[in-house]
Amino acid sequence: MTSERRAIARVVEAVETSDGAGVRLKRSIGGPRLDHLDPFLLLDEFGSEEGADYIGGFPDHPHRGFETVTYMLDGLMRHQDSTGQGGVLGPGGVQWMTAGRGIVHSEMPEQEEGLMRGFQLWVNLPARDKMCAPRYQNIEPEDVPEVNREDGTVVKVIAGRFDGVAGAVEGIAVDPVYLDVALPAGASFEQAVPEAHNAFVYPFEGAVEIGAAGTGEGQVVEAGHLAVLGPGGLVAVRAGETPGRFILVAGRPIGEPVARYGPFVMNTREEIHQAVRDYQAGRL
Ligand code: FE
Repeated sequence: MTSERRAIARVVEAVETSDGAGVRLKRSIGGPRLDHLDPFLLLDEFGSEEGADYIGGFPDHPHRGFETVTYMLDGLMRHQDSTGQGGVLGPGGVQWMTAGRGIVHSEMPEQEEGLMRGFQLWVNLPARDKMCAPRYQNIEPEDVPEVNREDGTVVKVIAGRFDGVAGAVEGIAVDPVYLDVALPAGASFEQAVPEAHNAFVYPFEGAVEIGAAGTGEGQVVEAGHLAVLGPGGLVAVRAGETPGRFILVAGRPIGEPVARYGPFVMNTREEIHQAVRDYQAGRL
C-alpha cells in the first residue's frame, strides 16, 4: 500500500501579538485566523534579541484542562510552579507540562538581553484526562534525540519517531509527533504520520516546499506561516536553493467540545466557571 503525500489544506500567517507581561510573539494557532486545530489549541513563536520584547515574561498564571509544551531554541527561561517544581530551560530543552486539574506557574526569562527564541504549543486533553494530577516531562537539551543524515539534514525528535528513533516525550494522550527539522539546500524529507492525525508544518527559518515535494506540485511556504496539512499518510517537505528549518507537529484529534477561557480549556461553560472559582479560591 502506498501512502498518499499530504497536500496543504490551508496556510495561516502568524500574527504579531503579545502575551504574559508584554512578551512579543507570533501566534498562528489560537489567533484570529485559526482558533484551533484539534487537538492543538495554540502555537506561539517567540524570538527577539531585544530584552524589552521578553523581559516581562509570564508571571504567575494558572492552567487547567490541557498541556503546555515549551521548546527553547535560544536563551534561558526559568519556570516555577505551585507543586514546588522549578528549573531553567535552556537552548534545545523541552518542557511538556500536563496541567490536568490545575497548576499555577511562572515562566520568566533568566537573561536581560540577547537572543531568546522558541515555541509554545498548547495540546488539548480528552475529557477523561482534564482533571488528572499535574505532570511534567522536563527534557534536557542533550536528551532530545538528534538524527543526522548524510545529506546534512538534522532532525530533533521531541515526540513521535523518526528513522526508528523514539522521541524524548512519552505517554501523551494524543500520540503526538513533534520534530524540529533543519534541511540543507536541496534536501528532501519524508515522514509517515498516522492518517487520522491532524498535522501542520511551521517553517521558522528560510522557506520549504510542502506536498508532492520534488514533483513540481508542492507549495512553497515561508517562515512565519503555518501550513495545515490535508489527508494522507506521508508528510513530504523539500528545501529549495536555500536551507529551511521547520517544526512538524501532528496529533490525534480529540473530537470533543472545546470551552475555552484564557488559561482554562474544558468541555463545557460550567466546567470553565468551576475552574475560575477553584482558581479564585486558591484550589489550583
Ligand atoms: Fe503557562
